[in-house]
Amino acid sequence: MRRPNLTLGSPPEAVRVLHDEESGLDGVIVLHSTRLGPAAGGCRLWRYQTSQAATLDAVRLAEGMSYKNAMADLPLGGGKAVIIEPEGQYDRSKLFAAFGREVEKLKGSYVTAEDVGTRVSDMSVVRSQSSHVAGLDSEAGNPGGDPSPWTALGVFLSIQTAVRRKYNTDLRGIRVAVQGLGNVGGHLCALLHEAGARLVVADVRSGVAIATGSRFGAKVVNPESILREDCDVLAPCALGAVFDESVVEKVKAKIVCGGANNVLGSSEMGDRLAQRGVLYCPDYVVNSGGIINVCGEYLGWTQDEVEKRVRATGHRLEMVLDHAQAKNMAPHSATDALAVERIFGREAINSQAA
Ligand code: NAD
Repeated sequence: MRRPNLTLGSPPEAVRVLHDEESGLDGVIVLHSTRLGPAAGGCRLWRYQTSQAATLDAVRLAEGMSYKNAMADLPLGGGKAVIIEPEGQYDRSKLFAAFGREVEKLKGSYVTAEDVGTRVSDMSVVRSQSSHVAGLDSEAGNPGGDPSPWTALGVFLSIQTAVRRKYNTDLRGIRVAVQGLGNVGGHLCALLHEAGARLVVADVRSGVAIATGSRFGAKVVNPESILREDCDVLAPCALGAVFDESVVEKVKAKIVCGGANNVLGSSEMGDRLAQRGVLYCPDYVVNSGGIINVCGEYLGWTQDEVEKRVRATGHRLEMVLDHAQAKNMAPHSATDALAVERIFGREAINSQAA
């Protein structure tokens, strides 16, 4: 199993293959771990070349969710669903109703929500078949709905923490390059702008980049050059595997802290960033705001409780960076080890090391 950025790992508890002729449902639900609670993680709808590629993606993402949920102190395990988007025309409601029936069969051991390619309306269809779903529209004052503003808030607080740690200053005048101006990146730009940061932005959707640039007085650059931009902080908020051989040596920022999942192309890329003196803030620690909101919705927390937990993201980052420093380890490796210890206990660390 390829494991892009998790240095310690374990096989999933269960992989459930989904197939429904009538609706065109093809995909997989992966339960990586239910040791800390129901395996929670969103449902991705994506065009995969093969079912093997879809399964591999789900396995990798489910493991990441276990680590993320454990490090966010949530009473949840980790899971993920992947649906292979059908070719041509298809009935979206039928597809998600069939998926909802599969979620229900797992009797609460898996909790789903939105992910790349899925939206609130899809989760409403799932809700018609199963109660084990979050990310639905909610009444004012209750958690629910689009989780991305919460994700952006957690990333913003983490950037504040990292800047204070590295430069001993607040965000005024700090140059932040944001790659990807979608749900998370867009909200993040607004928070950074308000805090006085100077923005450089890029998106493959050039219209979105231009609009964001004019709204926040940001410099707009092309998607190829944003990773090499001369800046203090680089915030990847697009897709994963951003740092590979071709990029890692060219990063000029001294801090990497963004919303995207699995940004390290491999664990070695995390080591290389550390060797170059770049402070890498582990993605699944800083981008947990969305799943905290999802968890609060599922477990019936108040919005205040959700906000309190999201606002603690900067403290959680501080804790893992202190731990990495004390252990003389790169932050990504130290954090993976901490997550494994939380999920499987100290014996798991000792047996991995043996
Ligand atoms: P989104 O689809 O709304 O936004 C992604 C943006 O990135 C789009 O505007 C897209 O055009 C742009 N993009 C894609 N490739 C690019 C490239 N090479 N260069 C520049 N721009 C590019 O997605 P989102 O919800 O904002 O999520 C962004 C990332 O954060 C994803 O990796 C997602 O898995 C992760 N994440 C999101 C949440 C959440 O609450 N939405 C939570 C945790 C993690």
